[in-house]
Amino acid sequence: MSNVEKKYGFTTTVVHGDRQKDIEHGSLHKPVHTSVTYGYQDARQLAEVFQGRAQGYRYGRQGNPTVSALEDKVNAMEGGSATICFASGMAAIGALTQSLLRAGDHVVSSIFLFGNTASVWQTMRGLGVDVEMVDATDVANVEAALTVNTRMVFVETVANPRTQIADLKRIGDLCRARGILFVVDNTMTSPYLFQAKLVGAGLSINSLTKSISGHANALGGAVTDTGLFDWAQYPHIYDNYKKFPTPQWGMTQIRAKSLRDFGASLGPEAAHHIAVGAETMALRMDRSSATALAVAEMLEADPRVAKVYYPGLKSHPQHELAAELFRSYGYLMSFELQPEIDCFDYLNRMKLGISATHLGDNRTLVLPVSQTIFYEIGQEARAKMGLAESLIRVSIGIEDTADVVADFKQALDQH
Ligand code: PLP
Repeated sequence: MSNVEKKYGFTTTVVHGDRQKDIEHGSLHKPVHTSVTYGYQDARQLAEVFQGRAQGYRYGRQGNPTVSALEDKVNAMEGGSATICFASGMAAIGALTQSLLRAGDHVVSSIFLFGNTASVWQTMRGLGVDVEMVDATDVANVEAALTVNTRMVFVETVANPRTQIADLKRIGDLCRARGILFVVDNTMTSPYLFQAKLVGAGLSINSLTKSISGHANALGGAVTDTGLFDWAQYPHIYDNYKKFPTPQWGMTQIRAKSLRDFGASLGPEAAHHIAVGAETMALRMDRSSATALAVAEMLEADPRVAKVYYPGLKSHPQHELAAELFRSYGYLMSFELQPEIDCFDYLNRMKLGISATHLGDNRTLVLPVSQTIFYEIGQEARAKMGLAESLIRVSIGIEDTADVVADFKQALDQH
């Protein structure tokens, strides 16, 4: 994989990645291996695999050849040192938090966060981890929150749904200077638009369910070690994982503990769907980003729209940062209509935009945020996160740009 990665561009690397290792029968895709267990002629070899002294598979919960091939692909996309796949993006977040954090630890997290990740922090608080949520668009807020017990700083690149962009570079510098693990959820940008490694993140998370898969036909998640964090500085590595070289400590513990303790392993069929989807991600992202910008510009210019949040707009507070760090501005946006327009009526007038949760799909998806994914947390918490009650989240698909722009416009015109 590394040869391809060095020589070629993103899509060439992804499309030809599997062939960097032997593929059974010359198959062009890594085959779907459904066996959950692996037999050995020599029982000693099985023991060596169990002890981590030889490469090999033993039981599907800890590893599978089809899943490994996808791990290689995601790892190449992120330019990482190792990647582990999980059953969903939330499984990836749950895996790294439960395997790395302990009671008494302190975490600084962006307050602009996917609701389910905020739910993980609520769970971790119940287990004795102190989580402080700050406005991470300014590194000063992160720095002010750090304590001697801070083990992790956690941010999303572009926050879902309001599109705030964390002060990524400066938070990376701060974490490096203080020896703190910097974890970036790269889901909204994907490794095509942004590599978390470039801002000094130690771990990068991707929900593979979104743009990497793209077809809404498989759930998956991944954690990538960028190779930048010095695991010798991390106090909670169990002794049995310290027998491996130091750069491998973190991922060895995350894989062993999380896949064993709660077993949210990615299945081979899902891995296959995601790997096939990944081949066209860059093409899809180019299209959906261009369409998103056109839709955002149209909405912003229309007086019937109160606010548009999209990093590609000059009015976005972190537009310059996005222009500097990201290849393009992505498919995620949100907007508020003027108060006299009911957001449900508006959504019901759309012909292409489908009222559905999910992001990064080939189809354009629209969602009333406060009444769905952020309903459970209540109005007060929503207000703190800057979520208006009429906010509409949009995930732009790969349909023809003119058709999508026209659909958002006709739904306004019908008012
Ligand atoms: N991280 C972010 C930023 C997300 O938006 C999502 C899902 O929307 C996830 C993680 C969770 O991913 P999954 O749905 O694959 O569990």
